[in-house]
Amino acid sequence: MTATDTIPPTADPGADRPTFDSLDPATGRVVGTHPVHGPEDVAAAVARARAAAPAWADLGFAGRAPLLGTWRALLVKRADELAALVHDETGKPAGDALLEIVLAVDHLAWAAKHAPKVLKRRRVSSGLLMSNHAATLEYLPLGVVGVIGPWNYPVFTPMGSIAYALAAGNAVVFKPSEHTPGVGEWLAQSAAEAMGVPGLLEVVTGFGDTGAALVGAGVDKVAFTGSTATAKKIMAAAAETLTPVLVECGGKDALLVDADADLDAAADAATWGGMSNAGQTCVGVERVYVHGDVYDAFVDKVVAKARAVETGDGPDADIGPITMPSQLDVIRRHIADALDRGGRALVGGRDAVGERYVQPTVLVDVPEDSLANTDETFGPTLTIAKVADMDDAVARANATRYGLGATVFSKSQGPELARRLRTGMTAVNSVISFAGIPSLPFGGVGDSGFGRIHGADGLREFARPKAVARQRLAAPLALTTFDRSPKVDTAVKKVLTLLHGRAPRT
Ligand code: NAD
Repeated sequence: MTATDTIPPTADPGADRPTFDSLDPATGRVVGTHPVHGPEDVAAAVARARAAAPAWADLGFAGRAPLLGTWRALLVKRADELAALVHDETGKPAGDALLEIVLAVDHLAWAAKHAPKVLKRRRVSSGLLMSNHAATLEYLPLGVVGVIGPWNYPVFTPMGSIAYALAAGNAVVFKPSEHTPGVGEWLAQSAAEAMGVPGLLEVVTGFGDTGAALVGAGVDKVAFTGSTATAKKIMAAAAETLTPVLVECGGKDALLVDADADLDAAADAATWGGMSNAGQTCVGVERVYVHGDVYDAFVDKVVAKARAVETGDGPDADIGPITMPSQLDVIRRHIADALDRGGRALVGGRDAVGERYVQPTVLVDVPEDSLANTDETFGPTLTIAKVADMDDAVARANATRYGLGATVFSKSQGPELARRLRTGMTAVNSVISFAGIPSLPFGGVGDSGFGRIHGADGLREFARPKAVARQRLAAPLALTTFDRSPKVDTAVKKVLTLLHGRAPRT
């Protein structure tokens, strides 16, 4: 779902292009007014980035790292200011906003530091057949990367692409969500202030049409984070120009609780993983599968914890409002469907969904094929189900078209269970921890998307492998010539038999 319908563009009489307002979801107050950039604006931004890209690439790793480091330090220095803006545009508590900034800064530092090791030119084996050659591999910048972001983590999520794309030597044009344009502009301004490279990180603001213009603007790759529905439109549009895409979409993440799990820790993780950021987390916990032996005790603990979660806009609030008003209907529908079909609400329920806020809701006895178990709810809700054993838990967790993250609480078989889950990431005995470990790639399978941000894979995602084979010595057997004789062909066949002719012994 896009929010294009919910925030109509407003005409700005003082300018020749329309503008739109970003709103504080807690109060409806206007936080800022921003231009709706059209195709020409987007093309101009891409042209500025295109002009900046070669010099940025030519700086090399050693030249770029200190500039990225200066930006990192500026982000730290002004973290409170950025956190306040994130709070204003998303409604999340300032502490949570700060947390996502901390993680984003850590990723920026990791990307700048590790880019040389991951991407620099190295010699690789040329193999026996081609042993007269030297073979080298390096990962070169793509040029200009278009980054399209969501609103739920308006710093952490796009920075997972922006930081890695810049460290790999690209320029970036960033289209932030229509709900968080101020955060996007802030990031671009701070980058310009710290690094002083005009065009290196351009920002364009607006709705889906602005994003669509960026996809069609001839960028060298599009890194998209958002809903699966939008991802499909972006892929279809990108196919026109064969523009490669990286797609990070939603999820329906499960948390598994084994019979030997630390139940206090598991209950805490389920409650925080499901309800922090008001449940608006792509890798948030939405479903919980608990071994029958500990089900009752676990449910009691989650109920107690969920009842203690404070909703509001004040300094004591644990969770804020729902950022995107249209999501309220989705959450209402999922809770109603679960209750209509035999589910029970132990906390919250039908009345939990208000005009701006959703109260924590814990649902049990919910059929596996109800919306609350099949579709991304993106609210502070959890379904908890009893399972006969952990094989049952794995099977139910995997019975989804999504495959982003997951969590396992088990003392004896955490890593084994984690490997069996069809997801890109799994946390064992903690929740969402993989997102804070910069060396781990982040991304999903199925409807959760493909490609990776973060880690070495995240750096390579924004580079093109460049393979070079250099002949060092004349070939003992000249193969790539019309002068090749039948004698050479016979010799080649002998070599082939010698190298690969014998089947391995079984
Ligand atoms: P969305 O798909 O509505 O919008 C995402 C971005 O795409 C916005 O900037 C929007 O303006 C733009 N857009 C809309 N239509 C477009 C089009 N046709 N062409 C190009 N761009 C277009 O998603 P959202 O509501 O902003 O974000 C919430 C979703 O993002 C959830 O599903 C959540 O799970 C997912 N998410 C995933 C990750 C991840 O890393 N996997 C991280 C955060 C959020």
